[in-house]
Amino acid sequence: MSKIQSFGSGVYELELTVPVRSTKFQPGQFLHLTLDDFDPTSGWWPESRVFSIASEPKQTFVTIVYSVKGNYTKRMEDELVVGKKIWIKLPYGDFVIQEKDTPLVLVAGGTGVSPYWPFLLKPRETGAVHLFYGVREENHILFFDKIQILKSQKWFHLHLMVENGSVKDLPYKAGRLSVSEIKNELGEKFDLADFYLSGPPVMIKTFKNDLTSLGIMDSKVHIDEWE
Ligand SMILES: Cc1cc2nc3c(=O)[nH]c(=O)nc-3n(C[C@H](O)[C@H](O)[C@H](O)COP(=O)(O)OP(=O)(O)OC[C@H]3O[C@@H](n4cnc5c(N)ncnc54)[C@H](O)[C@@H]3O)c2cc1C
Repeated sequence: MSKIQSFGSGVYELELTVPVRSTKFQPGQFLHLTLDDFDPTSGWWPESRVFSIASEPKQTFVTIVYSVKGNYTKRMEDELVVGKKIWIKLPYGDFVIQEKDTPLVLVAGGTGVSPYWPFLLKPRETGAVHLFYGVREENHILFFDKIQILKSQKWFHLHLMVENGSVKDLPYKAGRLSVSEIKNELGEKFDLADFYLSGPPVMIKTFKNDLTSLGIMDSKVHIDEWE
């Protein structure tokens, strides 16, 4: 464990130093993390939880962001300290964003923004990527510095929705993310877009239903549902 950053309200960013060969993954995939000992010769993997990878592939580290929800993430909050050695295994999952000429709409509720970062950090010249990012308050905005850098890129469109209070140094709107907000912002491009949804199950369900009722085909809605 090389870095631990707290964002308050039980949200933490963890950076883990790993051998470079361990960071072959595609943007959008996740890893398994266990707090218990693992003996690679036994083949038996202990209890673990899964977390989206928030850093780019082929680095000497991987980053994840987690929020304390139940027993296991509480254990993570209590037991993880810088310098501790832990086991992770990766890569898993098929929430992989396909590059297209049509607009890509990435919808993130809270820590659900994690799986988008390896994709957003890849250099690109063209295409339009819209990040609809909903947070409760300013200090819950993850990767603030990276958003600051991206916001000058022509292809990147940030739509930040903040439920409480105001935000310094980033454009934002007050309120909650919604499909009608996305439709308003995209205008006629709404029907052409591919939609990626990442966040709590209740948010995913609402967005999926609302997109379907507006005539968006299932094949254009891609989901990273967190149990
Ligand atoms: C694809 C994916 C990506 C995710 N990415 C993130 C992320 O980036 N950040 C984040 O904060 N959360 C993420 N989650 C959710 C995370 O994995 C945890 O499920 C969540 O944090 C619940 O908290 P907890 O484990 O403390 O709760 P707990 O109460 O400990 O457990 C919650 C659930 O885990 C399951 N579970 C219980 N016991 C076991 C066991 N022995 N072995 C395996 N599973 C068990 C059960 O379904 C239980 O309801 C992701 C989930 C998925 C599916």
